[in-house]
Amino acid sequence: MRAEAENHPGVYRFLGPRGEVLYVGKSVQVRTRLLSWLRGDDRKSAELLRVTRDVAWDYVGSEFEALLREFRLIRELRPRFNVVHRRDRRFAWIRLTPEAAPRLVATLRPGAGGSGRGARRTERIFGPFPARRSLPRDLAELATVVGLRDCAGTTPMVFADQMSFWTPELAPGCARAELGSCPAPCAAGCSESAYEERVREAVAFLEGRSDAPLAILEIRMREAAGREAFEIAARYRDRMERLARLRDRMTETRSRIERLTFVYETGEEDGKEDGEAADGPGGPGSTRRHHLIRRGQVLLSFDPAGEPATSGFTSAARARLAARIRDALRAPTPPLAELDDAAREELFLVTRWFRSHPLEETRTTTIPRYLAALEAGG
Ligand code: SF4
Repeated sequence: MRAEAENHPGVYRFLGPRGEVLYVGKSVQVRTRLLSWLRGDDRKSAELLRVTRDVAWDYVGSEFEALLREFRLIRELRPRFNVVHRRDRRFAWIRLTPEAAPRLVATLRPGAGGSGRGARRTERIFGPFPARRSLPRDLAELATVVGLRDCAGTTPMVFADQMSFWTPELAPGCARAELGSCPAPCAAGCSESAYEERVREAVAFLEGRSDAPLAILEIRMREAAGREAFEIAARYRDRMERLARLRDRMTETRSRIERLTFVYETGEEDGKEDGEAADGPGGPGSTRRHHLIRRGQVLLSFDPAGEPATSGFTSAARARLAARIRDALRAPTPPLAELDDAAREELFLVTRWFRSHPLEETRTTTIPRYLAALEAGG
């Protein structure tokens, strides 16, 4: 290994006695990283080296590719020495429960709740946005302002339009009814359609279509200030700011993901990466790769040898590549909340990559422009 491994970006695998993959890692300098494993004196390194019988590695053209490949291999092989970080735990979602009187619930796993048997409606998911400990409190705030319940899902609901002559008088299950912040669908305090109107208001806010909850708080704040109840006015102001932050976090993350739609070029044309000779698996030469990314999802990665900038690329080959790209784009994009775990985690990986490497966006081209250049052969 000392003799063979070289310092290029790549992904390495520690293999057990039956060739099973025990651990997958990546590095921009494979040789240095592998040697550091040999020198490692922590328990994990010692235990891994004790059971390892062989080490294999592949070079890739860039750190981004190494990151992507490592992630995909870990997802596929689930090596026992890799702690599978649930990277998307840093993102959260809001679930509108599929109950007769829906609630807003924070979740780290959209879809995990499901609509379930007997669900009255389809659940709705909003997000993602950076997870904060304050999220449940922010949601309780929104529920209070628009008038959605926040009690347990098991609380029986009885809408006013379900009451009959024989229904005994019902008492609300908590003090929110008395405080006026919940219309008490648990005690026939409102009709189903009146509750639905509140749901619509909350949804419009979460989708960034309405600022009504902020306007309600602003009116209350001004009224309190008008009565010279300045402490109460300050509390309304704080609540307003909290809700505005919640909405901004949601819209910001959504638009950041939307913006990640382009063709991204990685690697180097002249075989140099970080000042080193970057021999790919095929020997010295270009390590350039192009990645077709739509809404943060890598749809296609391809070798751009002979791309428009390269004179040897025939028009037939260009047309084939353009057709591949158009085919990949034709596949429908599922809403973010409906992506499976693997696709969602990869999306967050890509999102974090561009957030922590903002200069990489200078290596991107819009998809229409890329296709136009490809078809023009320029
Ligand atoms: S008043 Fe009834 S429906 Fe509203 S939060 Fe309390 S228990 Fe739930």
